[in-house]
Amino acid sequence: MEVSAKAAISAGERSISLASHEEAVRVTGLSKRYDEQSVLDGLNLIVRTGEVVALLGPSGSGKSTLLRCISHLDGWDLGQIHVGGKRLGYLPSGQLMTQHDLANERASVGVGMVFQQFNLFSHLTALENIAGPLRWVHGMSQEDADRRARELLERVGLSHRVDALPRHMSGGQQQRVAIARALAPNPSVLLLDEPTSALDPELINEVLDVIRRLAVEDGLTMIISTHQLRFAEEVADRVVFLSGGSVVEEGPAHEVLTQPRHPLTAKFLSVMG
Ligand code: ADP
Ligand code: MG
Repeated sequence: MEVSAKAAISAGERSISLASHEEAVRVTGLSKRYDEQSVLDGLNLIVRTGEVVALLGPSGSGKSTLLRCISHLDGWDLGQIHVGGKRLGYLPSGQLMTQHDLANERASVGVGMVFQQFNLFSHLTALENIAGPLRWVHGMSQEDADRRARELLERVGLSHRVDALPRHMSGGQQQRVAIARALAPNPSVLLLDEPTSALDPELINEVLDVIRRLAVEDGLTMIISTHQLRFAEEVADRVVFLSGGSVVEEGPAHEVLTQPRHPLTAKFLSVMG
């Protein structure tokens, strides 16, 4: 009880402070096709700094594709994505970026991503999964990278698994390492793509607890695609419901989840709930 009351107060404070904050992510008219199939269809989304957005929608509605575009892992056909006010894929002059510029931008843009299947390097320890990219991509010294990796492993409750290989860790532990890795370069936005979908039910809560703390204690800006409706209602400031590659409904989490206005949202919630 006490913990959830505190969480409620912090979430409230966070929403109040949002009014004065700038946009962390702006997606405008985003469209993407695979051959004949339209996957994103003129999608618009604004996420403000400090906001937690839950992305809901049926399988195939475009959640993963949207997150992959924002994290710059995928390209798109039409529309714009701004992160922290900067337009992705374009130089300040307005010129389209070359592959070389894109690779640099990907490393510096400040978006972290957590995948459903963890995507850890299987031959590297928990520590090296975090410290390695800090050295290779962000040019950190080994000493600094190791220190940062240890700090983050402590933050996700895994100080005792520093030297463990992924195959010797539970799914919940692997996903917590993946979250620590995504946080390591201090991203301005963290994207989580169904972070608990690959986990056995008894391991889901340890991962949700970490995400909850990032929202409540750190005020981290996050976009989380999830089928965990109760978690979404508790942690998200706003729910965005996707269908057919566009946003069909969005609003305060409690409102959308308890009184959906769009028939597709209502149908989805009745199946999920
Ligand atoms: P969600 O995450 O909401 O389940 P996705 O973004 O994964 O949805 O997929 C949206 C649609 O795009 C689906 O119909 C899927 O089959 C299609 N799709 C996704 N990735 C590819 C790909 N690499 N090639 C072809 N079609 C794809
Ligand atoms: Mg998906």
